[in-house]
Amino acid sequence: MRTRDHGQGGHHDVGTARQIDQLGRVVVPAELRKMLGLRTGDLLDFRLIDGYIAVSKVEPECALCGNRERLVDHADKKICRDCVAEIRATDLVEVSA
Ligand SMILES: [Zn+2]
Repeated sequence: MRTRDHGQGGHHDVGTARQIDQLGRVVVPAELRKMLGLRTGDLLDFRLIDGYIAVSKVEPECALCGNRERLVDHADKKICRDCVAEIRATDLVEVSA
């Protein structure tokens, strides 16, 4: 592993070479997983930026309020318990077309 130090506030660019397999899989180096707090089952977002693949952790959040805690699954969406409680306590009015 080689580490480049830009000398600004301890900022490091960590570079490491990993081989891609026949199925296109590549192992995220343990050190990077640690730095990003990645765990088994976490979602990663891949983007192509100026010829580089940028990989970032997808933080699950409430579809309604953006809260990242106490999430429950509902119809393929994540909703926090606060929003669930709020919906339950609200008299819902149907939107007329
Ligand atoms: Zn919410």
